[in-house]
Amino acid sequence: MASKYKIKVDKVKCIGCGTCSALASKTFKLNSDQKAEVMKGDLDDDKTIHQAAESCPVFAIILKDSKGKKVFPE
Ligand code: SF4
Repeated sequence: MASKYKIKVDKVKCIGCGTCSALASKTFKLNSDQKAEVMKGDLDDDKTIHQAAESCPVFAIILKDSKGKKVFPE
């Protein structure tokens, strides 16, 4: 599923806890540096992606809408 969000991970803030990839396993994965990365292709639904962003303990996941307006964190 294509997401309505533009999804970014702040790799400086990310502590590699793996919560996002556990909750939204089609959207986030940990790379070899133990930092979350946004995957390509068939992602999770937008509600799941938003929940994963909310669950990040350090607010490293940034969601923007198609116009570039920040949706999360508010
Ligand atoms: Fe990094 Fe946040 Fe994902 Fe944890 S939930 S791996 S801190 S982006």
